[in-house]
Amino acid sequence: MAIQILETAGPEETFALGEKLGKKAQAGEIYLLFGDLGSGKTVFAKGMAVGLGIAEPVNSPTFTILQIYEEGRLPLYHFDVYRIADAEEMEEIGYYDFFYGNGVCLIEWADLVSEILPGNCIKITIKKDLEKGFDYRTIMIDKPDSSADNLPAAKGDGYIL
Ligand code: ADP
Ligand code: MG
Repeated sequence: MAIQILETAGPEETFALGEKLGKKAQAGEIYLLFGDLGSGKTVFAKGMAVGLGIAEPVNSPTFTILQIYEEGRLPLYHFDVYRIADAEEMEEIGYYDFFYGNGVCLIEWADLVSEILPGNCIKITIKKDLEKGFDYRTIMIDKPDSSADNLPAAKGDGYIL
């Protein structure tokens, strides 16, 4: 596992990080987004979509669970499972085809469907620290070794660890 912790000072920086990862994303990758309501998961998702070359605006699909964007370099399957009752609802959506398909999955509130997640997902945890300001976030990226080459390139690129 390769873990990195970055800091962002505002939504633009979180968006830019998402965009950067979106540019490097590979088919079959599953990005899990953890963090409280309003931490910035959807901001990150919007950046990732732009990085994948998606021009259509990305919104939080809270009431639909899944939004599919097919116009980019790779399809983006954006899940927001905040309102899901149980993992069976994911079966009804046919999540399997998306998790094991040719696109990139991004799952907000992934902890609510933990029992169906494969082991090799990329975990992104966004946290506020109000002592450091309202717009400050730490973003932890936890990647399985197999996709470690997708990480931001070098120190000075936003790393604090
Ligand atoms: P979530 O999807 O996690 O519920 P959103 O991405 O919808 O959260 O909202 C995050 C909110 O926090 C937005 O209003 C955004 O402008 C604000 N914000 C402030 N600072 C940051 C930051 N550093 N990164 C991301 N969002 C931030
Ligand atoms: Mg959201």
